[in-house]
Amino acid sequence: MTVLETKIHESIEYWVETLGLQHWEFTVEVVSEFDDGVDAEASCAAHAYYDQATLRFNKRLKGSEIDYCVVHELVHALMRDYDEAADDALQYLGYNIGRGFALRVNATKENLVDRVTRILLELGKSDRVRP
Ligand SMILES: [Zn+2]
Repeated sequence: MTVLETKIHESIEYWVETLGLQHWEFTVEVVSEFDDGVDAEASCAAHAYYDQATLRFNKRLKGSEIDYCVVHELVHALMRDYDEAADDALQYLGYNIGRGFALRVNATKENLVDRVTRILLELGKSDRVRP
């Protein structure tokens, strides 16, 4: 295991417990490319029904970015049911309305995930949320 992989796993271990996600099954991969060709730092692909997800991290990730990316992707896992509800709604809207809806939902979701991630990281610096 590389230094980066070790740090990612240590961060995941801490944040999974802090966020109460111990019952989830996470597969962790460090990759040089993402499946969809997007140049991302990390991604979370959660199962639609089971509490399982694959977390992928870019091998170019810097040490200072690890905690942010881990928490960000775990918050995405927490929002799995929201994503499924939005996907269900999308199917009834048709392409023209659905496309705008999807863009707005995704932008709003990313903004929320980013804000929650930053708040959690700030709180994590204090003793209040440490187990
Ligand atoms: Zn995101």
